[in-house]
Amino acid sequence: MVDVPPTKSTFSRRALLQLSGASVGAIALGIDAPEAADATPARPVPDGAFSLGVASGDPRPDQVVLWTRLAPEPLADNGHGGMPLRPARIPVHYEVADDQKFRSVVRRGSVIASPELAHAVHPEVRGLKPGREYFYRFRVGRQISPVGRTKTMPDTGADIKTLSFATASCQRWYEAHFTAYRHMAEEDLDLILFLGDYIYEYGITDDNLLRQGASVPSSQALDIETLEQYRLRHSLFKSDSHLQDAHAIAPWLTIWDDHDVATNYGNEIGPVGPRDVPSKYFIHRRAVGYRAFYENVPLSLGMQSDGPDARIYQHHDAGSLARLYMLDTRQYRDAPPEDREEQYAKGRTILGTDQERWLHKSLHRSKAHWNLVVSGVAMVPVTESRTDQWDGYPAARERILETMQRSDNPVVLSGDIHHSVAADVKAKPDDASSSNVGVELVCTSIGSNGDGAPKDSLADDWLQHSYVKLYDGRRGYVHCRLTDQELTADFKYVPYVEADDQAPLKTIARFRTEAGNPGLERID
Ligand code: FE
Ligand code: CA
Repeated sequence: MVDVPPTKSTFSRRALLQLSGASVGAIALGIDAPEAADATPARPVPDGAFSLGVASGDPRPDQVVLWTRLAPEPLADNGHGGMPLRPARIPVHYEVADDQKFRSVVRRGSVIASPELAHAVHPEVRGLKPGREYFYRFRVGRQISPVGRTKTMPDTGADIKTLSFATASCQRWYEAHFTAYRHMAEEDLDLILFLGDYIYEYGITDDNLLRQGASVPSSQALDIETLEQYRLRHSLFKSDSHLQDAHAIAPWLTIWDDHDVATNYGNEIGPVGPRDVPSKYFIHRRAVGYRAFYENVPLSLGMQSDGPDARIYQHHDAGSLARLYMLDTRQYRDAPPEDREEQYAKGRTILGTDQERWLHKSLHRSKAHWNLVVSGVAMVPVTESRTDQWDGYPAARERILETMQRSDNPVVLSGDIHHSVAADVKAKPDDASSSNVGVELVCTSIGSNGDGAPKDSLADDWLQHSYVKLYDGRRGYVHCRLTDQELTADFKYVPYVEADDQAPLKTIARFRTEAGNPGLERID
């Protein structure tokens, strides 16, 4: 079956905001939802229930996950967003339509919000058509949410012409305005890939509050450790309107990285404590971090955490054009190496046995024209001392490179380093003259450590390698466009993020890589 090529989106964020006012929405929903009367909770939900916005994610050809979390008072001390804890079960209604005005509603349903998941809901809407744009909104009581736009994946095997997506990571809210998201929300995107560090766990005080004009309650002053604290941290970051807008314009595929729990954690080993002794304390912290992550991100039910465990790695097909492998490079990794011998040990793994087996099998079986390996941490070699990245797991990297070499047009998409990097990926990581296997595009942070600068003290670590074609330390994201001929990547940045959210969007550099001819070519 041949899919209709994607057309330029007619979605206008501004037009939607006008439409989503309660009066217009209430009339439409009141007429269309006869069950509305008996579903109204006995005690009304306080005003502002949808102050954290809406989102969609995990798109498949026939389904998508919608998300919202009822939080009339997002920073209420107990982490419950100002929601009453009784009644414990509150019906939330959703509608999915072909059009922004909801004249043509194609799916409608109800889900229950409850305190167990901080009143987050993740309805999975099935029976949708492939490669199609849809609009959605929620209702609770008489309150109507803002409208979101989403898009299903093209039909499996469909010969689609283009795929347009952005990659983003590292949103350290207290050190930057999310100006990058303000601009991303104006782009025409099929998909947004988020590559980890959705929150940061550090205490927020006057010393690190670089985001001018922001004030933060004293309850945020400590490093977060409890479920309530993780929930409050998500609420704080999620209150950003530009982040909400970026969620509302396209479906997200989201993976996590260390700061979604604690800095540089790996597997059962936290940032403090003896290396070989998994700490009961840290396992608990990982469990509450994973739970709050699920509560605040549009993940499907299958990705919900069970105590300290959650399977979030999976692949997605965008027709026959691309297969995306969303990796979890945190939960199953071996401990940091004690010495060089351990670092280079053959059996060492960053993905864990099961995920690595799954990845090799999925790559091997893929019929996709492009194979996009989405990793929380950077894969190309930088220095041996960067043991938190794939550099700490050279044997695992060699294994994946071998499989990638036998795959059509592999591309690595990663984040974590708070810098924009573009690099050729070499067949032999320790031999810069070996052939190119593919390319790696590392997105910078949405916001961290203030404005940043093009070059900084870490630049030489990267630029010493001839295969590194770009290094830049400012804030932004990468906008990618795939066709069967080529991948183009625009490295976007905003000149400043501390003072306010008004910085214009600029381009650091544009690269292309041709299908069948791996290697980056700078186009301007
Ligand atoms: Fe980060
Ligand atoms: Ca990270």
